[in-house]
Amino acid sequence: MLRCRDIVDLLAQYLDRELDADTARALDHHLADCRPCTAFVSTYRSTVRTTRRLREEELPSQLRERLATFLRRQARG
Ligand SMILES: [Zn+2]
Repeated sequence: MLRCRDIVDLLAQYLDRELDADTARALDHHLADCRPCTAFVSTYRSTVRTTRRLREEELPSQLRERLATFLRRQARG
């Protein structure tokens, strides 16, 4: 089973479709039941999309940190 903190670590690979099928499926299952992670993913997606349009490659680590902090506050796992 994946935990919320695993989602944070795997998300970039997940969105780039670099995860193996089993891990991706486990992540899907987690997202189906976890509202904070669903919110996290949709925020991450839209922000990445927006920032890619502005400038590539600059934001991800900063963004990731901020969203990880956000997620830790939302989810007590
Ligand atoms: Zn979660």
